Amino acid sequence: MDLLSPTIPTPLQWLSNTDIERAAVQLFIKRDDLIHPTVSGNKWRKLKYNLLEAQAGGEKAVLTFGGAYSNHLYATAAAGRALGLDTIGIVRGLELEREQNATLQFCREQGMALHFVTREEYRQRNSEDYLKRISEQYGNPYMIPEGGTTGLALKGVAEMVGEVKGQLGIMPDFMATAAGTGGTAAGILSAGADVLAFSALKGGDFLSKDIHELLHEYKRPGHLTLLTDFHFGGYAKWNDELLKFMQDFRAEFDIQLEQVYTAKMFYGLFDLIKNGYFKAGTTIVAVHTGGLQGLIRV
Ligand SMILES: *Cc1c(COP(=O)(O)O)cnc(C)c1O
Repeated sequence: MDLLSPTIPTPLQWLSNTDIERAAVQLFIKRDDLIHPTVSGNKWRKLKYNLLEAQAGGEKAVLTFGGAYSNHLYATAAAGRALGLDTIGIVRGLELEREQNATLQFCREQGMALHFVTREEYRQRNSEDYLKRISEQYGNPYMIPEGGTTGLALKGVAEMVGEVKGQLGIMPDFMATAAGTGGTAAGILSAGADVLAFSALKGGDFLSKDIHELLHEYKRPGHLTLLTDFHFGGYAKWNDELLKFMQDFRAEFDIQLEQVYTAKMFYGLFDLIKNGYFKAGTTIVAVHTGGLQGLIRV
């Protein structure tokens, strides 16, 4: 992945405003959105060791899964192109075949072969029989699950925590991240940090189990706190209040968030800060997981 020339370590920036000062906490943002122009944020971290393994194994092609607006498909398509690996994307929703949204368009331009499947078929994406059948159908490619979330993904994310410790000189009291599959949260926990994970989807309680399963081989993971109330109606749903929050955040800190993950996390985090959730002196590092390719301009 050196081929992809990432910006590493990504910057760690201190954030301050009156709410943060009043709560007497120290808040930092880990700018993983700056890691790479097209393979951004946590997707770069999660793909790193998966793609290195694919390369080391002499694989010709990588197959993975995602929805029509998937940052993971986008990142995989770009990384595959740069590394000389063919990419195949299994996309949720047969009806999208004729859709020309910017994410899918970009994937096609990078040379990703897109295969649209029914939502029913997509639901089988983690079943062993299905994966075996798909693998045979597409010539035994290197398979990466949805979101890039694998044991190897945790290793890549853990390196980000190592950077934070180096930059801060201590392990923060909490690291905060948005959660979709929970792979990023699990990676941070695997490095021993305590995590506030903000579910970007409705009914995110299942994430706790998924995250703990991902961590089964780690002896001393950090402690997980899962926040499930800041989903704004569900995955890829948002309202004017969230968009206003994004605008205010940009005006205040000169940092762009996006509406699917990172704005929900920061909205939730500021809600906790304002409501006295943290003791004075608490140090929090919130990860900007990227995803700005999916930003809606308002
Ligand atoms: C994919 C994504 C997430 C969710 O990461 P998980 O590891 O699946 O929980 C969070 N933020 C952004 C910007 C993403 O693209």
